[in-house]
Amino acid sequence: MPKNKKSEGKKKCERCGSRGAVFQRYGLNLCRRCFREMAPKMDFDKHE
Ligand SMILES: [Zn+2]
Repeated sequence: MPKNKKSEGKKKCERCGSRGAVFQRYGLNLCRRCFREMAPKMDFDKHE
């Protein structure tokens, strides 16, 4: 069965292409792992 009903979860990590828990933040689609790697470089606030 196609998963057309819940196409919201179609987001993909822009960095590694992972389709796990992808966050849309700061205009980026990053999975948890990539987000943690990118955060320090981009000076994100880790304590949000
Ligand atoms: Zn990723």
